[in-house]
Amino acid sequence: MNQGRGPNKYLIYFYVVLMIAVMLLNAIVFPALLKPRITEVDYGTFVKMVENGKVRTVDINDNETEITFAAVGENGKEELFVTGYLDDPELVNRLLKSNVEFSKVIPKENSPLINFILTWIFPILLFWGLGQLLLNSMQKKMGGNAMSFGRSNAKVYAEAETGVTFDDVAGQDEAKEALEEIVDFLHNPAKYKAIGANMPKGALLVGPPGTGKTLLARAVAGESKVPFFSISGSEFVEMFVGMGAARVRDLFKQAQEKAPCIVFIDEIDTIGKKRDNIGFSGNDEREQTLNQLLTEMDGFNAENGVVILAATNRPESLDKALLRPGRFDRRIPVELPDLKGREAILQVHARRVKVADGIDLNAIARATPGASGADLANIVNEAALRAVRCGRNLVNQSDLEEALEVVIAGYQRKGAVISAREKQIIAYHEVGHAIVAAKQTESAPVHKITIIPRTSGALGYTMQLAENENVLLTKEEAFNRIATYTGGRAAEELVFGTVTSGAANDIEQATKLARAMVTRLGMSQNFDMMALETEENRYLGGDTSLLCSAETAAQVDAEVLAIIKRAHAKAIDILKESLDKLHEIAAYLIEKETINGEEFMALLAG
Ligand code: ADP
Ligand code: MG
Ligand code: ZN
Repeated sequence: MNQGRGPNKYLIYFYVVLMIAVMLLNAIVFPALLKPRITEVDYGTFVKMVENGKVRTVDINDNETEITFAAVGENGKEELFVTGYLDDPELVNRLLKSNVEFSKVIPKENSPLINFILTWIFPILLFWGLGQLLLNSMQKKMGGNAMSFGRSNAKVYAEAETGVTFDDVAGQDEAKEALEEIVDFLHNPAKYKAIGANMPKGALLVGPPGTGKTLLARAVAGESKVPFFSISGSEFVEMFVGMGAARVRDLFKQAQEKAPCIVFIDEIDTIGKKRDNIGFSGNDEREQTLNQLLTEMDGFNAENGVVILAATNRPESLDKALLRPGRFDRRIPVELPDLKGREAILQVHARRVKVADGIDLNAIARATPGASGADLANIVNEAALRAVRCGRNLVNQSDLEEALEVVIAGYQRKGAVISAREKQIIAYHEVGHAIVAAKQTESAPVHKITIIPRTSGALGYTMQLAENENVLLTKEEAFNRIATYTGGRAAEELVFGTVTSGAANDIEQATKLARAMVTRLGMSQNFDMMALETEENRYLGGDTSLLCSAETAAQVDAEVLAIIKRAHAKAIDILKESLDKLHEIAAYLIEKETINGEEFMALLAG
């Protein structure tokens, strides 16, 4: 087979070079190295040295042409000298007189076999060994056969049937609807061909991490009952230039053979980043891979029923060429689930574990605004683990509640030592948040307040409930939310007359929201509908970058500060009005450590 041919050709070159190297060594390097340093002198000098007693030994070579002798040289050390052999009848007498050891060298040849082994076999073995070592380490680095360039070792995960269906994906109804058409096409391509409709070649799933993009892609394959080829963008980017492109070629070749099928490229942004001309881009490899992908997407015929799905959470960084019609022309948003979606996702995952009767998944869903599908799956799994830890065989509500807190804030720090006074401050801080939230009608009521420290570093927290999740945020709601953030600090100030570091996270959140109000949401007094910041990487935390001049930036800061100050003042007012409730509920919380929403509302009303 031709698998071996590549390596053999290279090995032959290697051995030819090796032979030449050994010959050169034998002809030039070894003799030069092995020959001792010998100074040549004339016969007169030799005789003089003998008479002065400087010479210790003398050797005459066997064909009587030269005399090699050891003598004390000018620097006082013994050195080797050589001189021409003269037919000197007095030589022996001279030597005897000066007490010099002398002899004629007996021709002593190494046995030819040993010579051969030393000068040929040994170096060849040495080099061969070195070569093997090098080859091995190269292969290890590449995770494959070093010399078989141009063949991807198919790190393609092909599944004949994924076994995942749309039922396994909850809450993403719009995305599912958009993908339904692809499923139908894969079932019955002829129907589309008959009318002359071109199926989109590719669809791009975009959304935050953990919302089920990978899951959806597998569900499309499962629903269509077609093979699923998946590869992650990072796997295209290899050590050798050209490898990624080869992989793309290979992937599409395999897919064509197995059509109808789905090719899924996960995290496509790793190869699909915008190409730019800034500097000497060190990313030839990525660019080549992308070019190959574009070429393949143009080249193959969608009529065969190969549909390409890709997923990313940074769509804005993708190259325009990828997004033009005929490539990934469909863009399917996969957003964070809403309340209904979260409950549905919890149900899907609760089906896989044994749950007690009458558990309230809706309560969990309401307490987890902003959680992704992956977070919710994690909550159910943590709950199941806790049930096992507690020696039960059914998951109950308390497991889910505790798992929810574990996922949000980490495990309880049972060993944490917190002084009585600190515990008091923490309790007032949390109750401050809760009262300010509850007293502002637009703010969500409280789900739970706790002062049990967690491994995330939280010393206590107030979990708010999303009663009905609005898609819009009004200016008043945003402002009230900031007031709620300041409520903790406000309580500390009112009761203890001092401030603590416990509000660091609140300060960050409040500032972020206030800044967004001014710079992006048009909720400020002076800037009307002017955009002052852009949001980058919307799905990955949403870093922002300023769009305005330095003077404007200073005004923005002033406005942000004004909003926060007003909100803080409002929180203090609210707490002053309910000071006795603050004391009462804080005392109760210190005793109980955790109180739930109903208890809190009862205390506040009662
Ligand atoms: P993404 O690719 O968007 O980052 P994944 O598809 O890998 O997210 O989702 C990770 C895990 O989260 C899934 O394996 C699944 O268990 C769970 N999950 C995410 N979204 C959903 C959903 N809509 N319905 C059910 N499970 C979900
Ligand atoms: Mg994924
Ligand atoms: Zn706080």
